[in-house]
Amino acid sequence: MTTKSELDTLGHRIRHFRTAAGLTLDALGDRVGVAGSQLSLIENGKREPRLSTLHAIASELGLDLAELLSGEAPTRRAALEIELERAQRGALYATLGLPRVRVTKGTTDETLEAVVGLHRELQRRASEAIATPEEARRANTELRERMREHDNYLPEIESLAEERVRAAGHTSGALTHRTVGIMAEQLGFTLIYVADLPNSTRSVIDMENKRIYLPPASIPGGHGLRSMALQAMAHRVLGHERPESYAEFLHQRLEINYYAACCLMPQTAAVSFLTQAKREKDLAIEDFRDAFGVTHEAAAHRFTNLATSKLDIRMHFLRVTGDGSLLRGYENDGLPLPTDVTGAIEGQFVCRKWSARNAFDRTNRTTELYQYTDTPAGTYWCATQTGSTDDGEFSISVGVPFDDARWFRGRETTERAESRCPDESCCRRPSDELAARWAGKAWPSARVHTHTFAPLPRGSFPGVDDTEVYEFLSRHES
Ligand SMILES: [Zn+2]
Repeated sequence: MTTKSELDTLGHRIRHFRTAAGLTLDALGDRVGVAGSQLSLIENGKREPRLSTLHAIASELGLDLAELLSGEAPTRRAALEIELERAQRGALYATLGLPRVRVTKGTTDETLEAVVGLHRELQRRASEAIATPEEARRANTELRERMREHDNYLPEIESLAEERVRAAGHTSGALTHRTVGIMAEQLGFTLIYVADLPNSTRSVIDMENKRIYLPPASIPGGHGLRSMALQAMAHRVLGHERPESYAEFLHQRLEINYYAACCLMPQTAAVSFLTQAKREKDLAIEDFRDAFGVTHEAAAHRFTNLATSKLDIRMHFLRVTGDGSLLRGYENDGLPLPTDVTGAIEGQFVCRKWSARNAFDRTNRTTELYQYTDTPAGTYWCATQTGSTDDGEFSISVGVPFDDARWFRGRETTERAESRCPDESCCRRPSDELAARWAGKAWPSARVHTHTFAPLPRGSFPGVDDTEVYEFLSRHES
């Protein structure tokens, strides 16, 4: 006997078999030569019995000693009681300064289930790598800056992914669902599609039975599912351990996304495709997307990995939501991305003059919008594609400094805009007339960004673009 839990279990087993035999504490105590009060202490896990006493108890109750010593709780209720005891003894519960619940015969199973359930949840939440929004923002910003220093390129993951893809027999074009299945098999895993995944998960890996559970495809043929399966495998391929901090969690998430992207658009094939397009001065994210059967965003994001390291092009990438705020962004070409005081970009409004926002106003959205934009940091050429999801509209932009526009389709565009952001007079501060007309008379309610942990931008109402509100009011005034 070593741990308190084992003593608890043993005590519960003795009580279970004693009451089943219809014996009182005193009656069994008499037969095995200990006082009823001593037996009670043993049953409550508060005293370790001698081996001779255990022998006697087992024999009086008609059991093998091994059966009595089994580590299993005799009943579901006993299991709950043992779990509750252990939880209440734990350091986590002690930090709360609350009294211990004593379980009696009068305690219903429901009460016990509820209290134990709360303890489990408390434990789960405590062990999660919980970060404050502030920590999360900092970790995210640090990671983005580190990736920027490496031009968003991770050669080790590139080679690992290429190796796995080749081993599965893939040579060129889109990575098929079947090949992804083979890649899983080669790692000893089976992909299983189920409709009842926990709501909070995208995939679950059963490490013991080597299964990767994934949701059924919502859009058959979409690359989302292949990507998800590859991300799940990536944890194994990259040897990830349970993350111990939010920063580590973010880093792992970046790595699995990176791995999946490398598998879907393997370096050799992708670089060869892009190099050829660059040579023909016909680079276009839409072609890259279609050649590898991925979404526009996946292709645009993959381009950030290879553009600088392999094509010698510095660039930026933006995913902007319909309200004009940045959901994801990357630049190593000096484009002045909007930031908050901590340097975070997520949730910040991008300039209203940028193509990332202009594109929403276009009626024809089937093709990319090409635009030159003069900024305080120089002139940039951008290609923006819009789309929509259940969460609303979004735009994906890839852009480069003026000189590099020559490699891209759409360089001859006549669309041109001037942006003076971050100077607030560019587009962030309402005109004097508008402000005079509406300041103090508008009461907008911000759309809540659950997907960003960035602080809301300042303004008279957090999370709201004053100019837009004022313009809206003006439009509807007459
Ligand atoms: Zn602006």
